[in-house]
Amino acid sequence: MTRFIFVTGGVVSSLGKGLSAAALGALLQARGFKVRLRKLDPYLNVDPGTMSPTQHGEVYVTDDGAETDLDLGHYERFTGVASRRSDNVTSGRIYSTVIARERHGDYLGATVQVIPHVTDAIKEFVTADLHGEDFLICEVGGTVGDIESLPFLEAIRQLGNELGPERSMFVHLTLVPWIPSAGELKTKPTQHSVKELQGVGIRPDILLCRCDRPISPESRRKIALFCNLRPEAVIPALDVDTIYQVPIAYHEQGFDTEVCRHFKLEAKEPALANWHHVVNRVREPESNVQIAVVGKYTALLDSYKSLAEALTHGGIANNAKVKLNWIDSEIFEREDAVYHLEDVNGILVPGGFGERGSEGKIAAARFARERKVPYFGICFGMQMAVIEAARHLAGIEKAGSTEFGPCADPVVGLMTEWVKGNQVERRTSNSDLGGTMRLGAYDCNLAEGSQVADIYGKRHISERHRHRYEVNINYKDRLEQVGLRFSGMSPDGVLPEIVEIPEHPWFIGVQFHPELKSKPFDPHPLFTSFIHAALEQSRLV
Ligand code: GLN
Repeated sequence: MTRFIFVTGGVVSSLGKGLSAAALGALLQARGFKVRLRKLDPYLNVDPGTMSPTQHGEVYVTDDGAETDLDLGHYERFTGVASRRSDNVTSGRIYSTVIARERHGDYLGATVQVIPHVTDAIKEFVTADLHGEDFLICEVGGTVGDIESLPFLEAIRQLGNELGPERSMFVHLTLVPWIPSAGELKTKPTQHSVKELQGVGIRPDILLCRCDRPISPESRRKIALFCNLRPEAVIPALDVDTIYQVPIAYHEQGFDTEVCRHFKLEAKEPALANWHHVVNRVREPESNVQIAVVGKYTALLDSYKSLAEALTHGGIANNAKVKLNWIDSEIFEREDAVYHLEDVNGILVPGGFGERGSEGKIAAARFARERKVPYFGICFGMQMAVIEAARHLAGIEKAGSTEFGPCADPVVGLMTEWVKGNQVERRTSNSDLGGTMRLGAYDCNLAEGSQVADIYGKRHISERHRHRYEVNINYKDRLEQVGLRFSGMSPDGVLPEIVEIPEHPWFIGVQFHPELKSKPFDPHPLFTSFIHAALEQSRLV
């Protein structure tokens, strides 16, 4: 029997609802329950795939090829449960489903309305694709009071009513701000937010109150009184120094105990030793490394959420603190890369789209290759490293990517055909942009004796992809002659997945996104190895 926990947010956005949901998932899992996490997003894009990362943050890709909200990354990292396409839906997708059904004649002459047709489609989504989970934690994006989220709130209200309190509960995350001029914490925004929620028929069972300092028992009682709750159901969610402390802090405040109490569950205390271990590693590292991340979306760090996390995991594995220098690659188109990269121990060029800043990434790859600084190129970062090698090692002066327009030497080109499972996927340059990239998990074979085979400790891997262009196999021989090794290939041998430079201490480019699968308890081997190489480099200088 699956129980449903709905998580809403109030007062302001960016309170960390996704992390709160993920932390609750981790706590229930640590008590021995099977959990799944899901997110409802109120915007009208069918998925976040077509949105700029600087607007919405990173697009998180699942094994089954869905482009989803970055909160799914938190869910996966905190629980280790692989997210699926069925774990994230937007208003855009709900509406396109309903409209397609209407066009198909499925509503048998009915007037199609938000209630019940849209809300039914939402409920169908929330309850679908469950397989014996004890808990489904379902986060509603946006802030209570937004017009966009109303159909979602209505749908979860109905579900709450249908399932009853034995199988459902509502958690509401709010802000308790400190007002310096009054020298007081203010509970009014929380009261208003709960009132707003009650206005749409939802009575929260637990309030999570974000606050930058301890909330006094008196304030807790006051919030409880105004919001119809017992004081124990008002959980202070105080700021912490590392996100891995969140499950521990929530447990100390009685969050998971309250959830178990609501469902009348006699559950064992959660086993949190692994979280304590990770927090200790983060708080007391033995050494430091400096990594430059040379990208384009550096104005919003959420654009590279999983990447920053994976680098931290690499640090945890090496008992080191990873300090990140976020550098806008366009700088290198105006100035010499040397000034910005001289003192770093490793250079990472992450995924990206479009021509702007690409020459700067090529300059960063060149610097890393020539100066023998560890280089990690991810997706676009691999493509730029290959173009760099083609131009400066193989003398293919006009080497470029067709992503930037027609090109005399398309070392990176548009993929028009590839194999997925038993099917051939076909694209043209006019295909829709949404949902048409090479997406999700693909297998890759690693060359015997290669550095990557050694790092992974195996010869067959599966990693997640999200790209439209591909390193052109026709240039393989010329590039291998000058020292680049194509050490990872698709099983049919057509698509280059990994390149490395054996003569370099650590120079690896991967076409996939390893950062999506890294976890604090299970750091990705490529990140562990890259940070290790950066540490070695730091000892040389
Ligand atoms: N823009 C490149 C492509 O589509 C790389 C994409 C990426 O880095 N995710 O192939």
